[in-house]
Amino acid sequence: MDQTEKKVKLAVNGGISFGAKLNAKQLGVIAEHLIDGEELELTTFQQLYIEVPESKVEFVKEQFREAGLSCYPVGNYVKSLRTCNFCKGAEEEGMPVAIELNERIAGKQVPFTLRPAYTGCPIGCGEPLVNDIGVMKVRDGYDLYIGGYGKGKIAQMGILIMEQLTPEQLYEAVEKIINIYAEHGKKREPLFKFINRYGFENLKSQLVGYE
Ligand code: SF4
Repeated sequence: MDQTEKKVKLAVNGGISFGAKLNAKQLGVIAEHLIDGEELELTTFQQLYIEVPESKVEFVKEQFREAGLSCYPVGNYVKSLRTCNFCKGAEEEGMPVAIELNERIAGKQVPFTLRPAYTGCPIGCGEPLVNDIGVMKVRDGYDLYIGGYGKGKIAQMGILIMEQLTPEQLYEAVEKIINIYAEHGKKREPLFKFINRYGFENLKSQLVGYE
């Protein structure tokens, strides 16, 4: 590679399945595109960061996709949905809903990196209450928490904003919250700070019809 060429960082993982796993083919294709002397970064959010030459980004993404890997942008975007291991089964724990939610929101541009998390039952292995947006499947419905934050001494738990939503109601509510944050949040303002400034009740009042 030309040493002066700009590098682009990609976030990669194996998509939403029974836990954050990679197979041999996926590891092989990642290793193939790892620049000599560079390292793979393992993040806390079930993503690997890899840097690739700018001129090869689209080619590498295509190769990754062919191997069943998912690619996401790095920076002030909605991250891919962190999930639990769906230990009680895909349908019972709502894996199709988690996949659809991830498709709808991951990679959207926001004022500051937004971490959504999903968990298939109230045991909460996906840690939904300490992430910006948390979804917990409870019986046949989906409970939605917002404003959790897991870092430092200002760590706080998310607040329940809606409960027992249907999948469609969940997608709509989460997308609306993200759109409002994208439109009204200040640059580099984390979601929990935005909620404090904008007002939890003000935000909730705009998620019409599901109380
Ligand atoms: S949150 Fe529930 S379904 Fe998901 S891995 Fe934990 S115990 Fe299993």
